[in-house]
Amino acid sequence: MTNSYKEITEDLQDIIEQIYKQEEFDRLLAYGRGLFSGLIEPVIVDKEAELDLDRLEFTDEAYQMLSKYLLKNRELKQVVVAKPCDTRAIAFYISENIIARDNLIVVGINGCPGIKDNTACDECDSKNPVIADYTAGNLMPEDEFAKDKSDLKYLLSEENQVTRKNHYTKEFMRCTQCYACRDACPVCYCDHCFVESNQPVWLEAGSGPEEDMVFHLMRTMHMPGRCVNCGACEMACPEGIEMRSLTSHLYHQAREYFDFRPGLAVDQKSLFSDYNEEDPEPGFLQQEGD
Ligand code: SF4
Ligand code: SF4
Ligand code: SF4
Repeated sequence: MTNSYKEITEDLQDIIEQIYKQEEFDRLLAYGRGLFSGLIEPVIVDKEAELDLDRLEFTDEAYQMLSKYLLKNRELKQVVVAKPCDTRAIAFYISENIIARDNLIVVGINGCPGIKDNTACDECDSKNPVIADYTAGNLMPEDEFAKDKSDLKYLLSEENQVTRKNHYTKEFMRCTQCYACRDACPVCYCDHCFVESNQPVWLEAGSGPEEDMVFHLMRTMHMPGRCVNCGACEMACPEGIEMRSLTSHLYHQAREYFDFRPGLAVDQKSLFSDYNEEDPEPGFLQQEGD
């Protein structure tokens, strides 16, 4: 069973109080209710600053991936409240030498009850943290959440290539290229993103069906072996564009064909550096019969 938001919040407040008393660190990243907005939002506080513990809260509106916020100040020692999908992103950062394990105190959330309207939570296959120094809530038995692709339907898998192409062309035409999806994604962290590159130019300025498709397909192609299937991209999109079906498809293909899910361990090899000649070659975004 998942834990209630109230149980998790109470545990988190106790743990953060304990950490303040006994740990050396520079900055805390947690969730709390906004003083003006009244919404759940990231609370980022330096250790010396005053912290109102009662303000800390975890609810089904904790949309933001605090793992991504770690990247801005990776030289600091940071305490981070991490949903299980955040802990996978953190394990991925450590495995890629993006952030040092010694600079982190991870407060993981056990038995994650999920985030409102996030379809990724319905298919979540890791509701306990993969890395944590402290944990809030009770562990959830793995057989209650582990799923495989056989339960799920992606990419209009019953349809042919033309139907799928038409579907995604129509879907992506609503894209305004605001890049909120990229900015929200914990594993999109290149210093220089291809969308802003002018040498070479991968994407022409302006929005049109071709640019929209290029952006989404190039972003998707960067995701196999990286996407932790957290759903933050879709949640951030102001146009409600259904883009996660592409990355999800590749996530589940990697799991099905190569028994690979990113961010499960800090010493995990990347999907593409672990090749052997017996590996199947399913093709990119293809279905049987295409
Ligand atoms: S995908 Fe949803 S249920 Fe799974 S860990 Fe993230 S927030 Fe929790
Ligand atoms: S592509 Fe979307 S679902 Fe995958 S890690 Fe990034 S934000 Fe999460
Ligand atoms: S957030 Fe939505 S509108 Fe903005 S770039 Fe991503 S898909 Fe396009």
